[in-house]
Parts: sequence; C-alpha cells; structure tokens
Amino acid sequence: MRRFYLDYNASTPVHYTIINSILYTMNEAFANPSSQHTSGNKSAEIIKVSRQAVANFMQVDLSGIIFTSGATEAINLAIYSVLFHEKFHNTNNVYDNNGKHDKPRTLLYSSVEHKCVINALVHWNTVLQLNYTIVEIPVDNNGQVVIEILQQELPNAALLCVMAVNNETGIITDLEIIKDSIHIYNPDLPWLVDSVQAIGKVDIDFNKLGISYAAFSGHKIYAPKGCGVLYVKPGSLLYPIFTGEQENQYRAGTENVPAIYGFRLAVDLLQNNKTLYNDIAKYRDMIISELTHIFPNIHINNQQLAVSTVINFSVPGFFSKELIDIFAIFGIDVASGSACGSLNSESYVLKAMGFDKWIAEGAIRMSFSLFTTHDETVQLCQRIKSIALGLSKYKTINKHDVRYHYLTNNLNVIRFNYNGSNSWIIVNAGNCVIIDPVYESIIKLKNYILNNSLKGIAILDTHGHADHQSCAHMLRDLLAVNLNVDQLGWPIINTNSEHLSRIAINNKPYDALMLDTNTALIKILTPGHTDDSRTFIIGSINNCSLNSALFMFSGDNILINGLGRTNFVTSSATQLYESINHLSSFISDNCMICPAHDYNHSFATTFIAERTANLLMQHIHNKELAVFLHKKQEIDALLNDSDSHMEIIKCGVVATDNYAHNIISIKEVQDIIRHQQYLFIDVRDSIVHNNDDTINNNLIKTNPAYNILNVPYTHMVNFMSYCLHNISVDTDLLFTCNSGAASLYAAQAFARLGFKHSKSISIAQLVEAIC
Ligand code: PLP
Repeated sequence: MRRFYLDYNASTPVHYTIINSILYTMNEAFANPSSQHTSGNKSAEIIKVSRQAVANFMQVDLSGIIFTSGATEAINLAIYSVLFHEKFHNTNNVYDNNGKHDKPRTLLYSSVEHKCVINALVHWNTVLQLNYTIVEIPVDNNGQVVIEILQQELPNAALLCVMAVNNETGIITDLEIIKDSIHIYNPDLPWLVDSVQAIGKVDIDFNKLGISYAAFSGHKIYAPKGCGVLYVKPGSLLYPIFTGEQENQYRAGTENVPAIYGFRLAVDLLQNNKTLYNDIAKYRDMIISELTHIFPNIHINNQQLAVSTVINFSVPGFFSKELIDIFAIFGIDVASGSACGSLNSESYVLKAMGFDKWIAEGAIRMSFSLFTTHDETVQLCQRIKSIALGLSKYKTINKHDVRYHYLTNNLNVIRFNYNGSNSWIIVNAGNCVIIDPVYESIIKLKNYILNNSLKGIAILDTHGHADHQSCAHMLRDLLAVNLNVDQLGWPIINTNSEHLSRIAINNKPYDALMLDTNTALIKILTPGHTDDSRTFIIGSINNCSLNSALFMFSGDNILINGLGRTNFVTSSATQLYESINHLSSFISDNCMICPAHDYNHSFATTFIAERTANLLMQHIHNKELAVFLHKKQEIDALLNDSDSHMEIIKCGVVATDNYAHNIISIKEVQDIIRHQQYLFIDVRDSIVHNNDDTINNNLIKTNPAYNILNVPYTHMVNFMSYCLHNISVDTDLLFTCNSGAASLYAAQAFARLGFKHSKSISIAQLVEAIC
C-alpha cells in the first residue's frame, strides 16, 4: 500500500535534485573549508556562493547570514546574544542585594511560539542568572498577538520573540502591526522572528520590518537536516555560544558543507516554484471536502489567514492519538498539534487561541508538500474515502463477537477513561446502564450508545464527585433516559419502571435494576468516601437472590492500590471500613472491582489483588479497625504532600506498581509458541486491528493458529473477567500494539491480577518473532 506522508511541517524529504547535487559536494568538495589548499578552497567557495544565494533570496545583507545546525540553534544563538549583552554590557542594569533589578525587565514571547523558543528563553535567563521576567503575550481567536497587551508590555522588554507562520495551524502573523507597536513603544527593542514555516510561503521584507533576527531550517524546505540559518540585521548584537573561527567567529565548528549547499539549492527551488502554492490551495479544498464527507461534524481549526499547505482539524469524539492511529492504518501519516505522550494531550496552540478543550485534544495537522500534484490529491481523497468504510465497522465494535471482545454471558462492560477518571457502560441485551459519566467523555459515551442502538435504562453516579463534573443529567437529556430519579440517578421507587426490582443478598433485600431475567444491577449503600457513596453490583440472579457477583462498581471507596480519601466533611473512615467489610462478605475473588478512577492504567482490580497490594485492605480483612483508622488518617494526610512514591490525587492516595519484567524479547516469544498455552492480544482499536495488513497478511495467513484476539482498551475489563473465570494463571498472555507501550500497561494490569506470564511486545517485533 502506498503511504501518504502529510507531515511536511515536521520535516520534508530532501528534494531529488538536491540529493544529486549534494552527492557531488560529498564526493568532490569534502575537504575542510578552513584548509588552505585547493581542495579546502573549493569547499570554502561553496559556502561563499551559498551564503550569497541565501542572502539574495531573503533580500538581506550578505554579512547577516550565519549558518547553524538548524533553527533551534539559530534561535538559541539570537536569544543568547541578547541576554548575554543584557548581563554583561547593559550598564543600565542595576541589581539590589537580592539579585533583583531596580527596573523590571522582561522577555516577551507569543503564546503560540514553538517550544524551542520558550525553552531557550528559560535556559539562557537561568544560565546567565539574569532573572528577567518571561512574559507570554496571548493571542486572540485568530491566532494574532493581542496587540494592546503587547503594547503594554513593550516598554519594559529586552527582547520580543514572535513567529511569522505557526507550525501547527499555518496561521500567518501580522508582522506589520507588531513592527508599528515596537516603533512607538520601544524602538530599539531587538525582535526575533521564527521564520521556519514561512520561508518560501509568505514574503517577508526583513529590511522594511526592521527584524533583528530571523531563524530558518533546511529540513523544512527540502534540504538535508543539519543546516539552518540565523539572519542578523546589520548592527544587531551577536555573541558566540561556543568559540572558534568559523562563521566569522560567531558559530564555531567545521561547516556542514553538503547541507549548506543543500540549503542554497532549496532556496532556488522555492524561488522557482512559487506559483505552485496556488494549486495547493485548490488541493486543500478538495481534501477538506473529502474529510467533511467522512466526518460531517468536522471542525476546521485554521480557517483564518493561513498558508495553503496546512489543514488543522478536530472531530468530536476523537482524541488526536486515536485519529492518528486510524489514518496511519489506512496509509496516511498525519500529526497532532502536540507531542502525543498520553491519549488526551492537548495542543497548546489551539488552547491559546481559545478553542474548546475537545478541539485542542483532538487536533490533527495535515501538512502538504509544495510539490503535491493533482493526481496525488485525487488518490489521497480516494484513500480518505476508504477510511469511511472502516469507520462504519468501527461503529459496531459492540458486535457480540466473542472472538473479538470476549463478552461474558452477553454482558459487556465498556470503559472510557479520561485523565484517570472512568466512565462505565454496562451493556446487556440491547440495554445499557451508565455509571459515573465524566463530562469530557460525553461525546464518546453518546456515540457508543447511539451507534450500537442501545436503550439507556439508567445513568448513575456512585457518589457526588468532588473532583470532576458528572454529566449524568446531560446524558439523560441527550438519550431521553428516565428523568424521575434521585440525585445520583437511581429511578424513584414509585416510577413505573419495568426494570426496578428487589434482590436479596444473604437474605437481606436491596434495590435493583433487572438487565434481563437472570442479570441484575444491585444498589448497596456504602458510605465511607462520602456519606452518599453507593456501590453497584452486577451479578447473576437466581430466585430473586444474588447468585454470583461479576462486576462491582466501587466509585471512590475502593481504588486500585488504594482507598478513597476519608477526610471530607461528609467522609467517615469507620463507615468505609464497615462498607468494605460488608462487600467482602459476599464478593468472590474473581469479581472485577471497577472504580471511578484508574490512575495507573490498571483497568480494574479484585479483592485478592487489593489485599496483596494494599496494606489498608489487609487491615480490613484482618478486622483490625484501630490500626486501619490510624493508618488511613496518616495516608489521607499525604494528600497535601508530594511524595515521589505515591501519586497524590484528589480522591485518594494510590501507590504505583513497579513491574520490571513485563517486556518480552523476540527469542522468548519463539519459545512461547512452542508450548501451546498462549494468547496473543492486540489492544489497539478495532478499526486499526481489522485493517492492519501486517497482522492480516503476515501473521494470520502464515498460520491461522496465530489468530490474534482484539481487545481494545475500552473492552479490557471484560477480558479480565473472562480470563479470571476461564483460563489458568499459567497461560502465556502476550499483549501487543504499535509501540508496545499501551500493551505494556495491559500486561502489567494482568500481572497484578495474578497472571504469571503476562508480557508485552510491539507488533513489529511480534511479526519478526513469528514470520
Ligand atoms: N520553529 C518552528 C516554527 C518549527 O516548526 C521548528 C521545527 O519543528 C523549529 C522552530 C525548530 O527547527 P529545527 O528542527 O531546525 O531545530
């Protein structure tokens, strides 16, 4: 399958014409440009003509072009120069005994700058011990610096850093208005314009604008990595970070001649192909139209004045990481705004522009090459169309297909986690109950329920949450679920609900909702974390009595590796002790405990796992009330503390597990395959799993016995329940995903439950081990 690379803002391939020419310099002009012989002169000459060509292209003075390793270095060199001067040569700088300035001095940057700018400001301000205040100037909804605030800040400023074109959105900054403000409020102020994403795309008149410094990068313009440029206006300050003879003593180190030559060729390329940008604007529209087809509620995030090579968009219900994985499996490489460490990391650029959180968390950036053709765009649109087909399958991931999701008795427990907060959907026979819905997950919950044509019976909370907003009432409205309920969503007893019932546990009756004739959700009042805390049990029913409990929704009373805090005014540690004691009298060791939080990607727990990992649970089990109360108080006191071994959160204190041995090598996988007792589990989303040619062609076709189960994160707790009831703890469980990182969490979570051989490996390594 042909891949479509749409991440040109991150890095461009080296243009084929440039590759050929650079090869020439590598062969023929390899000598050190500082050497005095003919070969050295040849290299020096290449640098000389390159400098001239770059200066001509930018229409600036030749002496202002400094070759660096890239834009990050260029930006650092500019910032260092200004700050070095402030520290050692600014005679107006007077410090008091505490190292504070008599006059406040500031370093200004706009809130959408590339991270290397703020990093450099902080770094050199610290290293040089300047202690200037670093001030972020906000941008408005259009991504433009708020000019009134800039004007207020300008008089005290020692430096201003702005960018010409934003790397995430392609939005073009109005440099003219910034220049005018500088002119009025601080005419001598040095200003740095990060021009990395602008070069070749927008015309900047460096002389007219009076820009002091501008940074450029070769690998964004079809030249090799390892070469950038700092433009320095004649007369602007410049001090070397490291010393030596090269670049007029401003940038020491033997020059990267091939890359410098590549940069020069790249500016020629930009110069000769300027008109191509008009075509790109048409292609951009074609792609937006195709995207709108598959995502009718798409939000385009860069409709402002932006370069035509970027589309930035979000789709309700999807995090960036999820969309990146979906596009990738269909052979399209796109980027998110921000580095995607966690599932819901957000774009600071879109956040700074005032977009809603879901937009910032779901942003996708498609960035195109100047050399994109009409044919390629048509093919790309076809490929985007094929995602639509995949997505329609994605909608039905709830299909009662045991091979994929390991449903137990038609009962399906789905979990959406947002920043450690769980929202649960219990699905049974076309009905569903939602427990502890978190506001940020509302679109996912709604989509899941509507796409699977489920009927909502109840939307419940385990308690009044202190740390986050429940969206139960909103979901009730959206899904038209019974509105005659108490404050935590339980239907009022007199309501004419066919599902309400009474179920006995140890001969005591409890309120319940029947999910089908043999399955009930039972409400148990369990004060502790708060006085209104409830636990919901899902279990099989026999003669109106609980037969066995399969899932228990513990709210914040029982967390994973910890207990909910009991130092709210409405909390009681003694009641928590009693509530847990009561529950443990009828909950078996393989009932899944599903809390309202999961801070460590452990999914769910069991009483036995908790008693192993959690001292407080041991005290409850051993009926040691006094010790329990004493320890609990001590631990709750940590909530204001920061201890490196404990994760401090609002609802309780949880310890972090440390499983060092859950990553498996290729050799160990090959050993596992020789014994028969193993399961391969792909934890990626179904759409990614189903469309992954690596798995379908390589693994399954090689040997159908290597059939890989697909258990996405949302379905993991079902699978845990299945495994605890049906397979031996000696079974080899091999979890996999693209990088092996998400699957490592799953492997660790199963190890926590007692599975002795629960391991993780990346898809690529798994294929290598098997094929
Ligand atoms: N500034 C902007 C706007 C960028 O997009 C980048 C690269 O991502 C940089 C600076 C850093 O460039 P380099 O990779 O050459 O250090």
